[in-house]
Amino acid sequence: MKITDIQLRSVPISRYAPNIDVPPALDTTIVAVFTDRHIGGERLVGYGFSSIGRFAQDGLIRARFAPRLLTANWHALMDVDGIAIDPVKAWTVMMTGEKPGGHGERCVAVGTLDMAMWDLAAKARGLPLYKLLQQVYGRQDLGSAVPCYAGGGYPFPSEELSRLRDETHSFKAMGFTSTKMKIGAFSLREDCRRIEIAMAVLGSGDRLAVDAMNIYAPDQAQEAARTLEPYGLRWLEDICDPLDFCTHSIIAAAYSPPISTGEAVFSSADAQNIVRYAGLRAGHDVLTFDPAHCYGIPGFVRIIEVFEKAGWSSQDFLPHGGHLYGLQLARGLGLGGCECNPHNFQPFGGFADGTTIRDGHTTLPELPGIGFEGRKSLIDLFRSLR
Ligand code: MG
Repeated sequence: MKITDIQLRSVPISRYAPNIDVPPALDTTIVAVFTDRHIGGERLVGYGFSSIGRFAQDGLIRARFAPRLLTANWHALMDVDGIAIDPVKAWTVMMTGEKPGGHGERCVAVGTLDMAMWDLAAKARGLPLYKLLQQVYGRQDLGSAVPCYAGGGYPFPSEELSRLRDETHSFKAMGFTSTKMKIGAFSLREDCRRIEIAMAVLGSGDRLAVDAMNIYAPDQAQEAARTLEPYGLRWLEDICDPLDFCTHSIIAAAYSPPISTGEAVFSSADAQNIVRYAGLRAGHDVLTFDPAHCYGIPGFVRIIEVFEKAGWSSQDFLPHGGHLYGLQLARGLGLGGCECNPHNFQPFGGFADGTTIRDGHTTLPELPGIGFEGRKSLIDLFRSLR
């Protein structure tokens, strides 16, 4: 098998559902890795994207990482039985010459191509990605029903309270039992009102996570934690700057319900510093690293190993992203579940078409690869890369 071409493009992406009139504030890179292999008369192509919530990475992919893959010696990169390219070996090629530290956004560029390489390798074997991950990493299979929660609750452009209530009702009607909403854009008092509205729909605070999106200054974070503690929320996420381990440790020592972090931390070295200095509580707090943002699967697995050495479990990880790739990793690496973005970040958010959510759990499509072919709006976008 040989890689014959890599095509990519930036596409705009919105935090809001398509029917809400707010211009897209983000973008992401979509990538297609073409090979000389055909399966069932169709060319074998691997697809990936830069997850959601940050920005496109065309520049670094074009300048450094795609050329390294395209010029690699592919005989040396095949897996042991010669069926497909080994994505872990391909990852090592991409990282050739990269210096430690200074993660910047190259971790997202590498994670984008890495996603496509795993899609390719799983398709070459006719396996869903989660089964390939189970073979490669040998982690425990926690069963076919994967816990998932609905992500949403971004500030609406108008009629905030009624629209938040309607959105939370819609998540519940889909089969979710827990949701996550954003805080920090309103006053704390207004956020309390919003939290109470969502809690009233869900039935209790332990079904609602809130995400401050790293916006609070240290004193604001502490004030928010004190104010929100009585709600007994499922977790309080991204409470301050992601690298302010001191404030994390102060809040973890004082705030009883779970807190969460990880979404804006991209390396195993930074993860090690969280373990050492952020005061988080193994088995209680929640880790939301986004695998595509932290150098892809090999980088993400290193982060899991850092935490496991410190007494954490892979089930403490609930990856950020809210899409099919996160769901495949949740099953394939034995994680505690994953996010789902049923109507935001389209066409990336959400799982395969027709997927059902039952009592806060879902199952994976038995399609080869990540399963993008089971999501029409998304595979049509990927197939526009020619
Ligand atoms: Mg977050």
